[in-house]
Amino acid sequence: MSRWIMVSNRLPFKLLPNGQFAPSSGGLVTAIGGIRSKAKVERIWIGGAPEGLTEEAWRKRRPTSGKSAWQHVPIFINEDLYDSYYNGFCNDVLWPLLHYQNDLIKFSDQVWNAYIQVNDHFAREIASMAKADDLIWVHDYHLFLLPQLLKRLRPDLRIGFFLHVPFPSSEVFRQLPSREAILESLLTADLVGFHDYSYLHHFCSSLSRILGLESTLLSVRHRGHITRLGVFPVSIDTQAIQARARSAEVDELSYRYRKPCFFFLGVDRLDYIKGLDLKLLAFKTLLARYPEVHGKCSLLQLAIPTRTGTPEFSRLHQEFSRMVGEINGLFSTPSWTPIHYMHTSVNGDELLSLYRAADALLVTSKRDGMNLVALEYIAAQTSEHPGVVVLSEFTGALSILSHTLPINPWNTDDTADKMKLAMEMPKQEKSYRLASMTRYLERYTATDWAQTFLDDLAKTPLAAVGVPHIFQPTRPAVDALAAEIAKKAHHVSLILDYDGTLVPIEESPELAVLPPATREILRDFTRFPWLDVLIISGREKRFLQAQFEGVPVALGAEHGAIYFDPQKKKWTQRVQRARSGWYPVAVKILTDYTLRVPRSQIEKKHFALSWHYRQSPSEYADYMAKKIAEELQVGLANLPVTIIRGKKVVEVRAAEADKGLLATWYLEHQVPGSFPLAFGDDRTDEDMFLALKNRGYSFRIGVTDTGADHVLESQASVLPFLSALLASLNQRMRSNRSREAQQRTLTSEIAAP
Ligand code: UDP
Repeated sequence: MSRWIMVSNRLPFKLLPNGQFAPSSGGLVTAIGGIRSKAKVERIWIGGAPEGLTEEAWRKRRPTSGKSAWQHVPIFINEDLYDSYYNGFCNDVLWPLLHYQNDLIKFSDQVWNAYIQVNDHFAREIASMAKADDLIWVHDYHLFLLPQLLKRLRPDLRIGFFLHVPFPSSEVFRQLPSREAILESLLTADLVGFHDYSYLHHFCSSLSRILGLESTLLSVRHRGHITRLGVFPVSIDTQAIQARARSAEVDELSYRYRKPCFFFLGVDRLDYIKGLDLKLLAFKTLLARYPEVHGKCSLLQLAIPTRTGTPEFSRLHQEFSRMVGEINGLFSTPSWTPIHYMHTSVNGDELLSLYRAADALLVTSKRDGMNLVALEYIAAQTSEHPGVVVLSEFTGALSILSHTLPINPWNTDDTADKMKLAMEMPKQEKSYRLASMTRYLERYTATDWAQTFLDDLAKTPLAAVGVPHIFQPTRPAVDALAAEIAKKAHHVSLILDYDGTLVPIEESPELAVLPPATREILRDFTRFPWLDVLIISGREKRFLQAQFEGVPVALGAEHGAIYFDPQKKKWTQRVQRARSGWYPVAVKILTDYTLRVPRSQIEKKHFALSWHYRQSPSEYADYMAKKIAEELQVGLANLPVTIIRGKKVVEVRAAEADKGLLATWYLEHQVPGSFPLAFGDDRTDEDMFLALKNRGYSFRIGVTDTGADHVLESQASVLPFLSALLASLNQRMRSNRSREAQQRTLTSEIAAP
């Protein structure tokens, strides 16, 4: 069974001054720590060694939790390097960028280089210990470059990447100087997951704007590799939290924490993303607007220390302490203090007791990947004392928690009103709201989150993993293939697509002319007596005729709508149904869009119209391409046409213009009994691969989902491969023929009287 290898920036414990280990806090630690395995599977957690831990000390002692389900593997990194990587790049560049705090970004080449080095260090450590069928799951933005660096060393590994924080709008992400490198790396992973649909959407739009890549929201293809994409909202170990929250210890403590008035609780790391300033302002607004709540509610805010060494965090601490002081100074009475502010973390039981004692949880994050505190709060509630969740719209949790009171934290007036609503909410309504969210959390736990992600990763098609399934045209492989073909065939038909197969794809279609050297090679092919060649392309007949002038090959123009017979030197039309019903309508629709999308153009053929947008602004043009396809579907409904979206092109063509139909007709009527070898690189070629299935062999250029029998890595490898294959095949065909000739002579001699 595959092992699970989790990789995160740090291992989930810290080293205390007394040399003991203690669990560290944070959403990522809670999420991974909450995973239980349904089957017995070996689980390894690789991460940076806790601060202060030396290799020698690690060898001598292990963390006290000997019963941990995880085998921990620390990675030791030089302290200065780690500082530049972690504080310099992760905290001062990526964290603010991913949370829309652009003004706080402090990019320099020095911290970027440190980030590369640490990611590389991780890659080398993992490469040396991973087994081929391990599932490698890389966590979070600290390790954006790890998929690529690891894949280079170990292309055989399946690698998944999960982002625990938001992926920002492309408008923000494209401000990052190293944006291309990060996206390129993520596209070498086999699966990339996010908490929320909006993060996935932003990621895809960054791919489009920065790398010019078109992606479905399910997958993206880049440099011959397919990366699956998905939304996997994290969850918690609900049953464990429920059990512990109802334990005698927590029960007792929660009664001690209860307050005589309505108790709002806030639990946040001391971080600018958590919106503590907005929370304090909203609370102040509540008190200012509604004097009747004075003495009847209070806020207990835990501000958990985090990244304590940085100036930003001491600034925040000072700012919030000042705000708390100001509000308390304004509203306190001798018997009531509105805000209780604690700059500390608490242990697990204390936290659960606070969750149970509080009447409402208040989350005002400005941006928050998920916010597990909200989920934990819900799991800890009891029917006897149900609580309310006031939750920022800017958390991932909002998408999965259906019955919170959602707020826009910048709208402090509305937040104050929602707090008042929470105070006045009848118990029955609170119970009703909680029940539905609890049901969700009971059914979908951290274990389910991990299991769905890892199941999807394990299901990644093999063709997308590394390179071993691509046909490598080595001498022995080519000879073996030639021997196989020679056993089955007396005559071979080479059926070739044009763009992307015989010639590379060019920016503009008119640039993709046939190089003289390729023409000569094709001419040589046609000299083999056992071979014929058919070129089937979406191009129109005049273009093909010009390219193949003087080369005796058959041509199928416009996807086979028109056929050129090289013997008769004659074009014939194969499409029977008139184009008058659909052609003018399609011209009108495409012309409208050509005016609206800069640098888009229509290619008019006789039985097809193509709308090309390779040079247009990619995101906008992709969007318009979807609209065109939709408009054509509606406008040309029930007419004999096919509408397809190819690589940066939308095409509408006569339904009978189909590469599969032409290839089949050709093999049945022009060269009966011939053995086809078909090559293509595009969706339209899939029709041909399907039609020729089990008749011969087909080759798709570029690694992708395909119905072809084989995949060739690149267009550049097509001609060298064909030359080697046909030369090898020629020897075998010749010896077949001479053997057959001998056989015939022998038979006729025996038959002779
Ligand atoms: N937490 C903790 N100690 C504390 C307070 C909170 O370990 O004193 C945990 C809390 O239980 C939750 C995590 O820290 O699991 C915070 O996760 P969240 O997603 O809410 O925010 P993050 O810290 O990841 O931004």
